[in-house]
Amino acid sequence: MSLPVPCLPEPCLLPMSFGLRRNPRAFSPTEPMAADYGVLVVEDEPGARKYLRITLQKAGFKVQEAGSGEEALDLFEQHPPQVALLDIGLPGMDGFEVCQWMRQRRENMAILMITGRADDSDKVSGLDLGADDYLVKPFGPEVLVARINAVLRRCSRQNHTSGVLTLGDIRMEFHTLKVFKGEKEIDLTPREFALLAAFLKHPAEVLTRDRLRREVWGANHFGSTKALDVFVCKLREKLEDDPTHPTHFKTEWGVGYICG
Ligand code: CA
Repeated sequence: MSLPVPCLPEPCLLPMSFGLRRNPRAFSPTEPMAADYGVLVVEDEPGARKYLRITLQKAGFKVQEAGSGEEALDLFEQHPPQVALLDIGLPGMDGFEVCQWMRQRRENMAILMITGRADDSDKVSGLDLGADDYLVKPFGPEVLVARINAVLRRCSRQNHTSGVLTLGDIRMEFHTLKVFKGEKEIDLTPREFALLAAFLKHPAEVLTRDRLRREVWGANHFGSTKALDVFVCKLREKLEDDPTHPTHFKTEWGVGYICG
């Protein structure tokens, strides 16, 4: 089988002619999961970034690309990916910081780090900050796709343990990170997704603002609860039939909110 290989000179990535065994399944556009997943590639070297994008697109993934950590954060907020591929050596924010930032916002996404160094310190640091796996340059496209699929399968199994949560006609799928109201897919930001998850995991339970704030922003967030109220309003606008008379995300005066 002849595989289309991008003709790029980056020494960091292993050319196909290097002798890797080819596994057609790893490149098949019918790979059962790839089409459902978006990958955010964060790599500052344009050639290497292009190589990663082409490789992943050929494997069926939807790809966004960022040349810096800051750009990655913007893309993440606009279109949260299911997978992030993070080069560690970036100008400005490095891959570790980007990993930590993303993991704090989304527990159930796949994060893979890329580094040029084979020593264990990068690997340990990345995994400590929430990365799921680690790739050392040089690596071939088959290895890249196989490792992403392996992490996705692990994440999918973990997410299936929590499965799908529903509330009335609202359906929240943790394995695809999608939310539906009836048949219509609703576009939520990562923060709105986290808030909805916090609500749906505790139906008919009074949740204080502090508790919700911790679940959505993390234990180390000491900001105002006003931001939380704003996000509840956004959820109501997107998911309630009549946001001015909410039936799902109700205010518990003086305490917080109750979901039912
Ligand atoms: Ca780099």
